[in-house]
Amino acid sequence: ENENKLVETEKPQETFEDVGGLDEVKKKIRMNFIFPLKQPELFAAYGKEAGGSLLLYGPPGCGKTFLARAVAGEIDAHFMHIELQAILSMYVGQSEHNLHDFFEKARNNKPCVIFIDELDALGGNRHQMRQHHDRMLVNQLLLELDGLQASNGNVFVIGATNTPWYLDPALRRPGRFNHLVFVPPPEEPERETILKLKLAGKPVGQIDLAKIARETKHFSGADLQQVVKDAVECALERSMESGSIEPITRDDMSRACNGRKPTTLEW
Ligand code: ATP
Repeated sequence: ENENKLVETEKPQETFEDVGGLDEVKKKIRMNFIFPLKQPELFAAYGKEAGGSLLLYGPPGCGKTFLARAVAGEIDAHFMHIELQAILSMYVGQSEHNLHDFFEKARNNKPCVIFIDELDALGGNRHQMRQHHDRMLVNQLLLELDGLQASNGNVFVIGATNTPWYLDPALRRPGRFNHLVFVPPPEEPERETILKLKLAGKPVGQIDLAKIARETKHFSGADLQQVVKDAVECALERSMESGSIEPITRDDMSRACNGRKPTTLEW
C-alpha cells in the first residue's frame, strides 16, 4: 500500500496531570471534547456529540502543543501533528493532497486528535506569489473541517497560533475554529507547579520552589523546562566528578534562571 510517510499517528502518554496550571483551558476542553466522548448519551440528549474544533492562542512555549497531546492522552486517542509551514513548502497540489491524507488517516483512526500548528501561516500579509497557493490550502482545510462536521464524531481538531489576528477570517466561521481559547503564560503558582512537575523523580536538595517561581516572572513553561535542564546539567557535572549522585541544588536553579531571559515578554 502507498503509505504517506509524512502522515503519522502516535499515542501520547501525557495527560492533563502533566500540564501545569491552565485550569480554565482544561475545563473548557473537558466540557467540549472529553465528557461528550465519555458520556455520549447525556450529551446527545442536548444535541451535542463528541468531536469538533478549538483554536488555542497565546505566547510561544506556554503549552499549546503539550496540551493538545495531553487531550489525546486523556481520551486514549491517536494524535497527529500537522505543521502547516512544512505542508506549505510543498508544490501546489501536493500540499492539498497531503492535508487530505492527514484527515483521511484521522477518520480511519478514531478517536483522533489532529493538532494544526502555525495556523497563522495561512493568513494575510504574505508574498503575492504565495497567495494563490495559500488560498488553495485554506480551501482544502475548510473542505476537510466541513467534511468532519458532516461525518461527525470522534475526530478533534485543535488549531494553534501565536497571532490569531492574522488568521484567515474564513477559518473563524461557525463549525470551524470559532472557539478561541487563550493559553496564558503561567502565573506564580502555576510556575511553581510546572517546576515541581519538571523536577519530579530527579534527585533534588533543599530548594524553595515558591521563591524561584516568584523570581521567574514572564517565564514560559518552555523556559522553566529549560531552567530545569540547565540545573540538571550542573548537578550531572558534579556527579561525574564525585562519582556519586549529586542532588540538584538551589544554586544550580538560581544560576539556570539568571542565565535565561523570559520569552513571553516579547509576545
Ligand atoms: P509554540 O507556540 O512555540 O508552538 P507551545 O505553546 O505549543 O509553543 P509547547 O510546545 O506546548 O508550547 O511547550 C514547550 C514545552 O514546554 C513542552 O514540551 C512542555 O514540556 C513545556 N511546557 C509548556 N507549558 C507547560 C505547562 N503548562 N505545564 C508543563 N509543561 C509545559
